[in-house]
Amino acid sequence: MSTSLSEAVRSAYQWSTGSCFRCGAEGVEVAELGPIGPAEQEIVLFACADCLATLEADRETAARRAGVPYIPGGVIPR
Ligand SMILES: [Zn+2]
Repeated sequence: MSTSLSEAVRSAYQWSTGSCFRCGAEGVEVAELGPIGPAEQEIVLFACADCLATLEADRETAARRAGVPYIPGGVIPR
């Protein structure tokens, strides 16, 4: 299991076993990122811990550049 995720990030998501949309890993622990796409063709994305760490690190960097607070758990805005 990855140790690269902080508890704040880990607890911001629901975890299950599945496949990662980003790296294609299957049968791994994945976080539910949320639905994307139009209502009729909506798909739910899941990312493994390593990919989620990358996605959240990108968000943290973007938030710092924009001068806004970084809040874990918003890879896909609701
Ligand atoms: Zn992945």
